[in-house]
Amino acid sequence: MSCYSCCSCECLETPLDFDAAVAAETRFTWRLHDVCHSNIGWYTDKTISDQQLLEDWIAKDAFGAYVLWHKDDYCEIHSMFHMRALYVGKGQIGKRLLAHWKGKDFSAEMLVYWTFLEMPNRQAKYCEQLLLDTYRVPLNKAESTGELLLCAHFTQTEVD
Ligand SMILES: [Zn+2]
Ligand SMILES: [Zn+2]
Repeated sequence: MSCYSCCSCECLETPLDFDAAVAAETRFTWRLHDVCHSNIGWYTDKTISDQQLLEDWIAKDAFGAYVLWHKDDYCEIHSMFHMRALYVGKGQIGKRLLAHWKGKDFSAEMLVYWTFLEMPNRQAKYCEQLLLDTYRVPLNKAESTGELLLCAHFTQTEVD
């Protein structure tokens, strides 16, 4: 039996392409799992939420690479949520998240999750570029040339 109806990925499989490139090309210590499971937060579409949650995050002044996610399925076998990457970016996290919240129409997704990993600008550039080269991320459109879909699997604790 497969984990998800919306996707062919499995909860327990780990995608290797991104990590293989980071290991071969750099001496950075972070891996895909760190980018996709660190500093998990969420916001709702601007039509149904206020800014307060975000402003709490902006105060942290973090810089790094981030991913926006849509929670679109659940695996009953492993009790995991399927997260599909919507957008990949880098920069001052709080500012970027606020700009996304104001500018993009997430109304189809309603609830948008984010993850980010703090890292210096040059590492963040590399991280963002490698994600876009490896994966096809719907809201990055033209810059996103990869073949694979970027998924993550969150536990109940991670989505709360
Ligand atoms: Zn599963
Ligand atoms: Zn998937």
